[in-house]
Amino acid sequence: MIDREINRPTWDEYFMLMAKLAATRSTCLAFPVGAVIVKNRQVLATGYNGSPAGSIHCTAQGFCYEGLSSCDASKDLPSRAVHAEANAIALCSRHGIATEGATIYVTLEPCISCLKLIISAGIKEVYYETHFNTGDKVTVRDYYVQDKLVNLYQMSIRDSVSFNASEFLVKPVSQKL
Ligand SMILES: [Zn+2]
Ligand SMILES: [Zn+2]
Repeated sequence: MIDREINRPTWDEYFMLMAKLAATRSTCLAFPVGAVIVKNRQVLATGYNGSPAGSIHCTAQGFCYEGLSSCDASKDLPSRAVHAEANAIALCSRHGIATEGATIYVTLEPCISCLKLIISAGIKEVYYETHFNTGDKVTVRDYYVQDKLVNLYQMSIRDSVSFNASEFLVKPVSQKL
């Protein structure tokens, strides 16, 4: 098998690569997150975490809240950012795109608020790269899974595929050798 075939992303890897690319657009200082909603291998919407449309970005003002280094530095204040999954779902809403039966790829395991939104949007499968929930939140998450409201799968992109994709990003791609 030639390298091109070996390093060709699977569908799951392909959409997770897109979620990572979406994360590059993140404007919250907490950490970048990207999401892609997919149905029948078709991308319905992408999203990243950032302040609500029309509101100044955390990256632009240099802080999330004045005196705080980032949105997740406070136990009391909610994140200024609309999370990536919520932004992708909101985009579908704006454009009248049905999310029923869709799958979402997210670079970070959805928080419980986003997971509830995902469930209510009819999205049945969640693929994520990095774990997020801890403690009681894991119990809440697992309760939804046990109730068959949603399935969650942790996944990663193979190193060779990521490396190959990064080469595609830094060099012109469509040149004859
Ligand atoms: Zn922020
Ligand atoms: Zn969230």
